[in-house]
Amino acid sequence: MPQQTVGILGGGQLGRMLAHPAALMGIPLLILDSGPDTPAKQVSLPPHGHTQHPDGAFTSPEHIKELARNADVLTVEIEHVDADVLAQVEADGLCAVQPAPGTIKLIQDKYLQKRHLEARGIAVAPFAAVPERPTLADWQALERELGLPLMVKSRTMAYDGKGNSPLKTLEEVDIGQTMDTLVRGAGGNKLYAEAWAPFVMEVAVMVVRNVQGQVKSYDAVETIHKDSILRVCFAPLRVAAGGKGMSEVNRRAKELAESAVATLDGAGIFGVEMFLMPDGTFPGLSSKTPDLTLTPFPPPPPTASGSLMINEIAPRPHNSGHHTIEACETSQFENHLRAILSLPLGSTSLRVPAAAMLNMIGTSESMQPIEDACTAAYGVPGATVHLYGKKECRKGRKMGHVTVTGSSDAQVRERIRPILAAMPDLAA
Ligand code: ATP
Ligand code: MG
Ligand code: MG
Repeated sequence: MPQQTVGILGGGQLGRMLAHPAALMGIPLLILDSGPDTPAKQVSLPPHGHTQHPDGAFTSPEHIKELARNADVLTVEIEHVDADVLAQVEADGLCAVQPAPGTIKLIQDKYLQKRHLEARGIAVAPFAAVPERPTLADWQALERELGLPLMVKSRTMAYDGKGNSPLKTLEEVDIGQTMDTLVRGAGGNKLYAEAWAPFVMEVAVMVVRNVQGQVKSYDAVETIHKDSILRVCFAPLRVAAGGKGMSEVNRRAKELAESAVATLDGAGIFGVEMFLMPDGTFPGLSSKTPDLTLTPFPPPPPTASGSLMINEIAPRPHNSGHHTIEACETSQFENHLRAILSLPLGSTSLRVPAAAMLNMIGTSESMQPIEDACTAAYGVPGATVHLYGKKECRKGRKMGHVTVTGSSDAQVRERIRPILAAMPDLAA
């Protein structure tokens, strides 16, 4: 089989975790990002004939074209790239691009992404466009359509909840001021609004499709967010002793995720985030308040039902699939490489009964809390520490994660206690 060089737009932690299986499989990588030692570049030597990885912005047309001339397939570890240039390099026959540039462009705009899914009969949280300079009357119309609270979201450039602002009331505030806050929250980008989803649980499914069209999905995971940032992830969905637990929800979540990905072109791994809604039976679970309090140890439901709707899709490896490195037969990162290189997909089955993933997120400029969490993790059986090699710590920045595997969901939840205890911001 001729060796193909993969060009990756973006050299952060997802690129770093792509570089690990690439090294095992002997796949040459060229990583485009600004700076000589980004997280991905730190762990990957450039291929023969190159003295270094390209140093430039993954949004720069010149750098993307240069990367395309030196690679066989381009892919992304971040969706906020120049999708038009990717379409151009593909049209010019410079290089293959996976997933399809049109898919990346569609997903970049969450409002268009939602319209695309809705038009194809895929369940999504109710949503509506926000006019460019909305008046109080516009907000009142949105309230009539979607109710309150609203989740006001940036259409583009959103990640880790940056760009999301809950709007709880229209009364107590001067709407001009609220608008300023919302626009600032969205980084000046265009806005759209979503109805508040009073979910009982957030779940996510990773779906992978190769160039030939073979599709596999991983079992659904439970994702717990705080302040709109993913903090903890449990795999598989909880199963109660003697009960069916959430196996039915798992089946439907995989089905919904696969049908959503079927509407998108191109090969690779996709992360599908979903809300499990309170219109079913959830013994032991209750609808969350808009403050999104984190409850790490709710009791497992003996059986659970309820409708699912999609929050958003990522056209790349995703934080809710990090556990697949230690917990599944083939990681999301290896399967992404297999998918875009026309290789057969690997098994997505869990190879341990249960796993949890805990993000280590900066609380300030100090690395100390991250180091404390690592120290706690090193004392836990079945724990694997991943540090991303980022030099500067900042509040809200993903610095690393820990995966903990175990013989049961209960054991995993027990094992993560000392690590959670070393992350006081999580409980706060
Ligand atoms: P990511 O880092 O996953 O790309 P993002 O910045 O794109 O995040 P979203 O996924 O849209 O943001 O939202 C982040 C989190 O905010 C969700 O996982 C959920 O916890 C909460 N959230 C988003 N939309 C809603 C909604 N309509 N109702 C209630 N909560 C919501
Ligand atoms: Mg997102
Ligand atoms: Mg999200």
